[in-house]
Amino acid sequence: MATSPTDVEKIAEGVRAGDRRALAKAITLVESSRADHQEAAQRLLERLLPSTGRARRVGITGVPGAGKSTFIEAFGLYLVGSGKRVAVLAVDPSSVRSGGSILGDKTRMQRLSVSSSAFIRPSPSGGSLGGVARRTREAMLVCEAAGYDVVMVETVGVGQSEVAVASMVDFFLVLMLAGAGDELQGIKKGILESADAIAVNKADGDNVARAGRAVAEYTAALNLLRPSSAHWKVPVIAVSALEERGMDDVWKLVEEHHRAMSESGELVTKRRSQQHAWLWSMIEEGLRAQFLARDDVRRMLPELEDAVAKGKVTPTAAARTLLGVAESSRSKA
Ligand code: GDP
Repeated sequence: MATSPTDVEKIAEGVRAGDRRALAKAITLVESSRADHQEAAQRLLERLLPSTGRARRVGITGVPGAGKSTFIEAFGLYLVGSGKRVAVLAVDPSSVRSGGSILGDKTRMQRLSVSSSAFIRPSPSGGSLGGVARRTREAMLVCEAAGYDVVMVETVGVGQSEVAVASMVDFFLVLMLAGAGDELQGIKKGILESADAIAVNKADGDNVARAGRAVAEYTAALNLLRPSSAHWKVPVIAVSALEERGMDDVWKLVEEHHRAMSESGELVTKRRSQQHAWLWSMIEEGLRAQFLARDDVRRMLPELEDAVAKGKVTPTAAARTLLGVAESSRSKA
């Protein structure tokens, strides 16, 4: 991949003109771990920044089987049908470990992926969750600069990854299922707290009445939580991704939320604090990488980890030694 200043300028121009090949190139640059690519990616993002920030940033989460990819396809097709351009990105924590990606996979959204108004990119794989989230966040900026009206970021509802996604979007949609038994069982309070809206999916066929009850239960559960904004009451609606029903309602919510947050000034505040948190997560990642690259750390780490595991050295003492703020605890012993 070319990374000279003229190449970067060319890619930036292509992205702004909405050229898909330039977009793909830009995202590949952003996702690359090569130092020269990283450097070029940051120069590229700087050029693109003035053209970012205008998309509706929508995060979507839900347990496996909740219907995320079916929903994203149905919602994406609805948006494309009303003249919008849609990008779909993902943060897939399993790709951090396996190096493979299950989310945002084109085979899962076949109808949407053939649309010229849609751009689907699987989750970057490898590295830490922070690294994956960083690459998705930067890919989102590239998509915005390319003029996509809506950027959806998908993630599985398993804790850390949804926190990462909630902290990069304006609107966080949680897909729920109307299950048998206690509707709220297994649903972490944290998910409800981070939701800007809840959609109970699969409200079709025999499931319609059950979905209706789930809507009432989630609404009651939300009433017990302190609202995170004085200007937004988290709505709960029933949808059917399979039958493509309720997609207009979801879009209405995204727009209403955007209006409420813009008018109250919360959108600006939220994006600012997201930038601030992102800065710090980058600093932490960077410090960690620098630390792990040090020769003395690499030499001492296995031994000290072992000593801590065996209870011979306290974690604090070992950390102090590794950070260079204390004499090696072994030499003192
Ligand atoms: P994901 O794991 O959250 O991405 O879920 P999928 O989109 O792969 O959906 C899991 C299963 O639920 C698939 O068999 C879908 O066809 C089905 N499904 C998804 N949405 C609906 C829906 O609205 N109604 C019904 N009846 N089934 C659905």
